[in-house]
Amino acid sequence: MSDFVFAPPAQIAVPVKGGGLFPVRRIFCVGKNYADHVKEMGGDPKDVPPVFFTKPADAVHTGGVMRFPLATDNLHYEGEMVVALKSGGAHIPEADAARHIFGYAAGCDLTRRDLQAVAKEKSGPWDIAKALDDGAVIGPISRYEENTLLNSGAINLSVNGETRQKSDLSLMIWSIPEIIARLSGLFTLKAGDLIYTGTPEGVGPLVTGDMCRVEVDGLEPVEFNMVAR
Ligand code: MN
Repeated sequence: MSDFVFAPPAQIAVPVKGGGLFPVRRIFCVGKNYADHVKEMGGDPKDVPPVFFTKPADAVHTGGVMRFPLATDNLHYEGEMVVALKSGGAHIPEADAARHIFGYAAGCDLTRRDLQAVAKEKSGPWDIAKALDDGAVIGPISRYEENTLLNSGAINLSVNGETRQKSDLSLMIWSIPEIIARLSGLFTLKAGDLIYTGTPEGVGPLVTGDMCRVEVDGLEPVEFNMVAR
């Protein structure tokens, strides 16, 4: 008989390609990590460094049917590559970052752009724009051998079969080792952490009935379709 006063929530997990489940601890995200996306949002990449924000683990959605999120009239897709960690630590040097990586997945950082615009205007936090239910879409995680860095490769997002985002991982402003080094200076990273590495240009809205698909070279695609709430 446990001491919990009600049943604790189930462990959030993401399927691993080839079998097994990756248990999710925390979700970190990089914003403004592709120069052409910074420009489309009205910023100058020379003046605007990348930023970190977080989503709760229970925002994970592993693809398939999604009920349209609450409280937004302007839900945006952001196709991203996701790093999954098998270990961590604080103050991880860039040269040591790769050995903490379990694998990679294609994902989508869903954003309530209307609520983010209000937050930006008021210099307030982004939480309600970014930490929405189902807001961390992720496909199956592909295991990679130790010290494999996904430094290049095509990243594409389509809506209803039409390409909306088309870029390359080599265009990230902060590389994977730099992201891990910087993030681990702010938070102690641990096994089970996911890191969304930022979106390229071409972000835009999703509406009920849309089918959204994210593809990253060498990884399993992820697809989800919006149905009415
Ligand atoms: Mn993003």
